[in-house]
Amino acid sequence: MREKVYIETLGCQMNRADSEKIIGILETQGYTKTNSPEEANLLVMNTCSIRAASENKAFSHLGIWKKFKKNNPALKIAVCGCIAQQTKEKIFKRAPQVDLIFGTHNIEEIPELLKQLDNQEKVCSILKTPYNTEEKFYSKRTEGISAWLPIIEGCDYFCTYCVVPYTRGRQRSRLPEDIIEEAQQIISEGFKEITLLGQTVDSYGNDFKDKNINLSSLLRELNKLNGLLRIRFVTSHPADMTDELIKAVKELDKVCEYFHLPMQSGNTEVLANMKRPYTREEYLNLVNKIKAEIPDVAITTDFIAGFPGETEEQFNDTLSIIDEVMFDQCIAAAYSQRKQTPAAVWKEQVSYEDKKRRLNILNTKAKETTLKSNEKYLGRILQVLPDSWKEEKGKIILTGKTRNNKIVHFEGSKDMLATHINVEIYEASIWCLKGEIAP
Ligand code: SF4
Repeated sequence: MREKVYIETLGCQMNRADSEKIIGILETQGYTKTNSPEEANLLVMNTCSIRAASENKAFSHLGIWKKFKKNNPALKIAVCGCIAQQTKEKIFKRAPQVDLIFGTHNIEEIPELLKQLDNQEKVCSILKTPYNTEEKFYSKRTEGISAWLPIIEGCDYFCTYCVVPYTRGRQRSRLPEDIIEEAQQIISEGFKEITLLGQTVDSYGNDFKDKNINLSSLLRELNKLNGLLRIRFVTSHPADMTDELIKAVKELDKVCEYFHLPMQSGNTEVLANMKRPYTREEYLNLVNKIKAEIPDVAITTDFIAGFPGETEEQFNDTLSIIDEVMFDQCIAAAYSQRKQTPAAVWKEQVSYEDKKRRLNILNTKAKETTLKSNEKYLGRILQVLPDSWKEEKGKIILTGKTRNNKIVHFEGSKDMLATHINVEIYEASIWCLKGEIAP
């Protein structure tokens, strides 16, 4: 009987990319992926510790899985990801049903850890530095036309609210030749779009001796690959965005006009407390430069509401910058105290009620600007790459994204999937655009 694995992935795209790698490795060990946890022999929880809500969600899933184990004592439960890296074997105390814990640096070690589990009741392996392997493992990517490709791990910034440098370690860029080889593999599997991933993707290459290797040089190499239609990259750090990179996005035909540039606060003093190395004015100058260079560029961002010590006046600076920049999308979250991070123990915590209130105001403002930025495209013709379809009242409705990451629905046919289609936009909402194939 083939072993079946079910994986639950919480958190960011890096975790999703890790889950694809875990499935790729487990398939070499005879496992097949299932979408039903009830029929799995191995359940994997890939955790996120960026906010308390995500941590609670992981343990709530583990509570449900405990019941599956009662019916099937041979079932194995594994926990990995950022909570595993941070909390280590303490997870066994909180969730005794867990059999295996492994960290963010030793995914490649899974075959060995599963063998250990045959002879041991519980196994926990958390490495501080990446596991050394001679073997190359390819990720098992989900179906579709877009694939994620991690190019850099970890982060050197140590923002005062963030656990990533503690859970993912210091910045490590992958060699360009390995990335290009994996991109070629992805294209040979039929994917048309690649999104390069990193916590600070535009820091790529800063840790190499050869300073000529950076994200723009990598994009220029990837842009040459036949069979690939689009390239994206997330998440950029404003401090690492260079003129050279902006120029590469402007010049390269496959690189999409889209930047996710987390600002986190519109107030310079709060930014300094967060240890974000830019001021409000510097950030504004940067986005204005990008907009001036690249027509129709979309800029999205993240904000934190209620960072320790944030006053109402400082919060209002965040609201005003949303109007000033007219972001295409703002992803806002209430500040969450995370273990190990400096800000978690500061006395000046903002009350739960104030954080919630500010978050609501931020979200309302963000929706208004997203709608305005989407309405700009009414009557315009945009290039869409459809990746899915559904039948509606006997018609085929295709869904895809524009180069600048807007979701578009339009009537078409299934043979248009994975090809560039020009669509004229007639309706705009917060979430998407609707259009018809341009004449
Ligand atoms: S740059 Fe991003 S990943 Fe790095 S510490 Fe700051 S918030 Fe975390």
